[in-house]
Amino acid sequence: MIVMGIESSCDETGVGIVEWNDDATTTLLADEVASSVDEHARYGGVVPEVASRAHLEAIMPTMRRARLAAGVDRPDAIAVTIGPGLAGALLVGVAAAKAYAAAWDVPLYAVNHLGGHVAVDTLEHGPMPACIALLVSGGHTHLLRVDDLGAPIIELGTTVDDAAGEAFDKVARLLGLGYPGGPALDAVAAQGDPAAIPFPRGMTGPRDARYDFSFSGVKTAVARFVEKCERAGDAVPIADVAASFQEAVADVLTRKAMRACEDTGVDTLVLGGGATANSRIRSLTAARCADAGVTLRIPKPRLCTDNGVMIATLGAHVIAGGAPPSALTVATDPGMSVQISAY
Ligand code: ATP
Ligand code: MG
Ligand code: FE
Repeated sequence: MIVMGIESSCDETGVGIVEWNDDATTTLLADEVASSVDEHARYGGVVPEVASRAHLEAIMPTMRRARLAAGVDRPDAIAVTIGPGLAGALLVGVAAAKAYAAAWDVPLYAVNHLGGHVAVDTLEHGPMPACIALLVSGGHTHLLRVDDLGAPIIELGTTVDDAAGEAFDKVARLLGLGYPGGPALDAVAAQGDPAAIPFPRGMTGPRDARYDFSFSGVKTAVARFVEKCERAGDAVPIADVAASFQEAVADVLTRKAMRACEDTGVDTLVLGGGATANSRIRSLTAARCADAGVTLRIPKPRLCTDNGVMIATLGAHVIAGGAPPSALTVATDPGMSVQISAY
């Protein structure tokens, strides 16, 4: 069975094609992504209208490239992200998916973007046991419990304000590192001391929700610190600020992920989302997983950021799980939560 996945929830137009094999593994046939990230750079964040328009321009060429790369004229099914994401951006992918499903007379499967970030790991590392998933990207910070990729996913916690990647981008901007500044901040942090400044670890107090996150406090603390330096006429120790901020974010993320593994007795942790490219998030998670006897699975960086392959892979699991196709009248669901969605 060959499944095409279409992703357009944020600033990446992704079309992926995978083959579902009889032994419940998936093989990657095509992975085409067009990103509008450069168009958002001068605004310092994703501009929804700009993203929608870029999807509209990119969707057909990206689909064509994927079909050519895979040597597939017509897939057996189409999976598409219906949420969560930007309303106008989602509409483009969903409209294209519906049009092709109707024209090719193949079933359409509307799936949840977040499940895709987890499912994509099976491409490289094989079938997925029950796991805890930590998703960190520019738009999302979620701690999930995934018992079965074809079944509903349970959300344990999420951010109450900024997403982790968004906090990286905002702090990077404050430090004059450009947009999206996550990778630049990571590089600068390598030269700094992570213990130089004790930035706050949000929502880690005894009365805080066990699995929720908050990153606006640490972001404000960095802003205050920078202002204080400037007022005093001192040079901002950029590398130390970057390293200390990164340490605070990585500490909270991994601490809560390990807590979820411990509380649930689940011994596999999957990371996903573009911010998992962060070197400290990776190294701290690896160290804490090793200490706790938890198996860590991280897809390769290209598959951690938004792409169509993750949607195709999730679609393949959903189909294999026996789910009925979606109606061609299915709507987008920008605020889609993981609990209420089937997949
Ligand atoms: P979505 O939230 O819908 O999954 P997105 O486009 O907001 O999508 P991704 O494309 O998955 O997010 O990831 C981009 C984010 O990851 C940006 O916020 C970027 O700064 C951050 N990021 C990438 N590399 C690093 C890094 N090495 N360190 C910290 N953050 C990083
Ligand atoms: Mg992106
Ligand atoms: Fe994403």
